[in-house]
Amino acid sequence: MEADVRYIEVAIALPVFQTFTYSVPESFADFIATGKRVLVPFGQRRVTGYVFGKRQDSDIAEVKSILDILDEVPLFPSTMVPFFKWTSDYYKYPVGQVVKNALPGGLNVRDYASIALSEKGRHVLDHGRPAGIAADILGQLRSGSILVKDIRKKIDRDIPGALLYSFERSGWITKEWKLAGEKTKARLERFVRLNDNNLPVDHLSKARTKIIDVLSNEGVIPIKKLKETVPTAAALIKSLEIDGYVTAEYRRVFRDPFGDAIEPDRPYILNQEQQKAVSQSVNYLTKGYKTFLLRGVTGSGKTEVYMQIAAEAIKNKLAVLVLVPEIALITQMERRFRARFGECVAVLHSALSAGERFDQWSRIIQGQASIAIGARSAIFAPFRKIGVIIVDEEHDASYKQEGSLRYNARDLATVRAKQNECLALLGSATPSLQSYYNAAIKKFTELTLETRVEQRPLPVIRIVDLRQSRDMRGIRRFITPELQQAMKTSLERGEQILLFLNRRGYANFPVCGACGQPVRCKHCDISLTLHQQANAYRCHYCGFSRAARSKCEYCGSVKIRHLGLGTEKLEALVASIFPKARIARMDRDTTKRKGSILKLLKGLKNQTTDILVGTQMVAKGHDFPDITLVGIICADLSLSFPDFRACERTFQLLAQVAGRAGRGEKPGSVILQTYNPDHFCITAARQQDFIDFYRQEIHFRKALNYPPYSRMIQLKISGKDPRETENHANLLGDLCRRLKTNHLDCYEHLEIMGPIEASLTRVAGRYRWQILLKGLSAKALHEFINQLLSNNPTVFVRHSVKVTIDVDPYFMM
Ligand code: ADP
Ligand code: ZN
Ligand code: ZN
Repeated sequence: MEADVRYIEVAIALPVFQTFTYSVPESFADFIATGKRVLVPFGQRRVTGYVFGKRQDSDIAEVKSILDILDEVPLFPSTMVPFFKWTSDYYKYPVGQVVKNALPGGLNVRDYASIALSEKGRHVLDHGRPAGIAADILGQLRSGSILVKDIRKKIDRDIPGALLYSFERSGWITKEWKLAGEKTKARLERFVRLNDNNLPVDHLSKARTKIIDVLSNEGVIPIKKLKETVPTAAALIKSLEIDGYVTAEYRRVFRDPFGDAIEPDRPYILNQEQQKAVSQSVNYLTKGYKTFLLRGVTGSGKTEVYMQIAAEAIKNKLAVLVLVPEIALITQMERRFRARFGECVAVLHSALSAGERFDQWSRIIQGQASIAIGARSAIFAPFRKIGVIIVDEEHDASYKQEGSLRYNARDLATVRAKQNECLALLGSATPSLQSYYNAAIKKFTELTLETRVEQRPLPVIRIVDLRQSRDMRGIRRFITPELQQAMKTSLERGEQILLFLNRRGYANFPVCGACGQPVRCKHCDISLTLHQQANAYRCHYCGFSRAARSKCEYCGSVKIRHLGLGTEKLEALVASIFPKARIARMDRDTTKRKGSILKLLKGLKNQTTDILVGTQMVAKGHDFPDITLVGIICADLSLSFPDFRACERTFQLLAQVAGRAGRGEKPGSVILQTYNPDHFCITAARQQDFIDFYRQEIHFRKALNYPPYSRMIQLKISGKDPRETENHANLLGDLCRRLKTNHLDCYEHLEIMGPIEASLTRVAGRYRWQILLKGLSAKALHEFINQLLSNNPTVFVRHSVKVTIDVDPYFMM
């Protein structure tokens, strides 16, 4: 920004949609820049704002002035301002709060500013006799440096940022940032290389000659590795270095999540299909906006395609953004990208400490990282010029954020690509209906990988009809004789098995043996799930927990029967059938602690796990080469959800989990157990035939006018009082209908469904209602909601009943 800025546009982190104009005092003009945070007066308060750019002039008579600039360097580039505005407008979320959401939480460093008294400050304190708050603050510093937030607590009042700023400029105090959490230290390792000065070697000892030989073959290697061939290498290197033969130096090394140093790899020779996908997309690099949909069967080598396109982007000095659905997969992606690209990779995800996140963010802003890998929020990574945005497993529901800013990172990827005039590459073996439809109508360009790498076959899937399962003694029938036999064979061959059941806990349907009443959550309209290890009943919606030993709430009986099957019970069942097998379980309960996912993955990698039992966590994208058998315990669990995407989700889940089998040298097989063997989504999953599934499902979507043939906005209404919530929902419904009738010319095709009670009628003590707005175009739908909002602002902000706008909703229950 030029130095003579007088007015700036500021987005404020409060529930307001517009941006505001503030003036910049002359003393601040040199420090102001787009992307920095400022402290501004707003009504009676002082709030944080984000500088969006310069404003020519102000039409408002009295413009307030900013109080402070909170950052030394900008947190985002000016090219992201239109992106924030678009996101705010589309998802109906206040623009300042969009920015707040986008920036990693750990960035709130202001509170961690540690200030100390300078010599000059001490002099002022002793002789100048400052008054009021200045005396209080400086007085606190007499005994040493202290965090700003701690001073605030001690003197029990707010400290104006501008005041500290002026202290700093007067040279009274010094400031430094103390971040919560440790900064990551680079790991260094000692490497050696041969000097190319051709010194004579004939007089050298055997061991020294050997070292020289190894180095001339391998180039630069770690001393650690050299020790494998010459155990005394460490000592010898020293003397070789003194004599001028070799140079030893510290180099930065990256470790994979398992703690092993990542060795640089080379690009694979691409097969024909991969080659075609790469060259087709690379052709369009730097030529403007375009979205590709890469549909590649499981194990077809999509990651290699991503990496070679990324390499091309980097050659063109453009950044690469890689989105991955979950943390467990980020580590796998990070490992592969680091092996190929080394230093220039940054990672962004919630498992990093605040300090680590700040570091990664800064590396991107400062141009030290040109590749960022992260979960959905990484769509906001602060790159200036992007070459390609890659969204791996683009169908995955975790790209949709529920709560606060309800966005879909996959959709935002195409928006950001359009604004940055770059490529978006969406990859999946089982694309979302929406994306494949976009490819079908040529909005996206399809790229395909029909075969696995090295011609490996897709696994053979056998369907087992659970209705025929004869053993009716409760849950035991879920390990059918067919599955048991196949498991036995695999174990005898020393191969690994994956068992998939999309439900955690021990039993999800505890029922009173005396009166038949289910054990329900106090706050939600749903059964509790027994978790045996925790010895408690838990609610999977609100987290409510109660002791496993409690009595029936209706009749007081202690005889509770634990019906229903979860992964915990399945694990116990498998252990009783195969007592010698080493079993591990991967679900949300076993992966809460930091590092636990890695431990589970390591068990598979090191062959210390024979059978892995897990929920959808195991279905996603992992590359475990030694799994040859996948057992799907009950394929139907997600099929009966009251949600128009139930079939899509089920198909994706089944095809994905099946795709974990036979990825290595040995071929794989899958046993798929189901109560609906003839359902099209089961038969299509069995063939691993996405196109077949798409044809049938899209037909149904069209008939019922569901997305992708329509767009939806859901209004979620919730409140603690059942009557009040219902009334408010009805009021909102009336307002919607009235708006439609008054503007029938614009909204003729807009459907208003509801208000109806949500299928989960109560969660966490709140009664839930919903209204679904369905329209043929996003435009009409957005105009409608804008008008609704501006006509009735108070209806959307009420304390007792909350109304949330969910654009392109995913979780419909
Ligand atoms: P996908 O993501 O499509 O399921 P991956 O990218 O995980 O598949 O690739 C599966 C395996 O194939 C990986 O171990 C990868 O290293 C390997 N691979 C990828 N491309 C090639 C190739 N051209 N030749 C040999 N192996 C390859
Ligand atoms: Zn009872
Ligand atoms: Zn609950």
